[in-house]
Amino acid sequence: MATGPTSAGPRRKDKLLVIMGATGAGKSRLSLDLASRFPFFEIVNSDKIQLYRGLDITTNKLPLPERLGVPHHLLGEFDPLDGDFTPADFRAVAGQVVSGITNRRKVPMLVGGSNSFIHAMVAERFEPGSNVFEPGFDASVSAELRYNCCFLWVDVSMAVLTEYLSKRVDEMLDSGMFDELAEFCDPDGQDKHDPAAVPTGLRKAIGVPEFTRYFKKYPQSKRDEDDDRERRGAYEEAVRVIKDNTCQLAKRQIGKILRLRGGGWDLRRLDATDAFRAVVAMSTPENDGGERWSEIWERQVVEPSAKIVKRFLEE
Ligand code: ATP
Repeated sequence: MATGPTSAGPRRKDKLLVIMGATGAGKSRLSLDLASRFPFFEIVNSDKIQLYRGLDITTNKLPLPERLGVPHHLLGEFDPLDGDFTPADFRAVAGQVVSGITNRRKVPMLVGGSNSFIHAMVAERFEPGSNVFEPGFDASVSAELRYNCCFLWVDVSMAVLTEYLSKRVDEMLDSGMFDELAEFCDPDGQDKHDPAAVPTGLRKAIGVPEFTRYFKKYPQSKRDEDDDRERRGAYEEAVRVIKDNTCQLAKRQIGKILRLRGGGWDLRRLDATDAFRAVVAMSTPENDGGERWSEIWERQVVEPSAKIVKRFLEE
């Protein structure tokens, strides 16, 4: 019996486009821009918190009407009461989704900021329980991958991203994040005696621990009784900590992306700093109405990405 490759040669690996980047860097936007140019893409979420149903504003899930008809998989599909997803779970579930997409002759695009999940998903060999990002683990990043991957890394300078993230948290709060968290974290709104009612998958989402502390001290039901000034101060402190934690998350994510690159992953970096600088400037009084951010984004991020993707698809 022949043991080597068949006459057709070894099976070619399936193609997978991966969009990486820190929180807020524009991964979802780029994924939609590419999906509208190449209409056979289907998007697979790789943000470990957005896997779960609930807290759609707080976790920044792309709302259905903004998905522009592009199929999105693993976005808000799981019950947070079922417990935490591990990287090994993600490898299994996302692997099945990607096979399904490929079998339908579409091309999968993995989009999200959880680098430990991305690593688990695409590494040729994966040891459940290992963590290439944690000091103390022996595992190191290998460039051997189980898919034919094209990696796009949307990067924004930390100084500009910090300003943008602060603005984004304010916008999220304005568009309903506070009410969403009030319902989720306010002890008045929960069955405090039922441990099974604690939605484990979402308890670590940025915003939940910060506002749980706030609502413990200032439950919505006692709004009229407490000192408004103190309440306001506690609210502002919670918002400050959320902004700070979001920036810390972005820095850790960039550190992990650099580790993957250091391990031999061929990441193609797209610099979105100028586009984000224009977004941040839009709301400042000295804004001179210079080039619109969307034009810069198109020229500096979308067009170079589309060229890379076109070449990858033609290979
Ligand atoms: P880690 O090893 O720290 O778990 P990771 O790469 O597996 O990192 P990240 O996506 O970096 O996963 O998420 C780490 C933490 O950042 C989450 O546990 C959560 O606290 C926060 N976080 C990540 N994504 C979101 C989100 N969409 N909304 C709110 N918080 C988030």
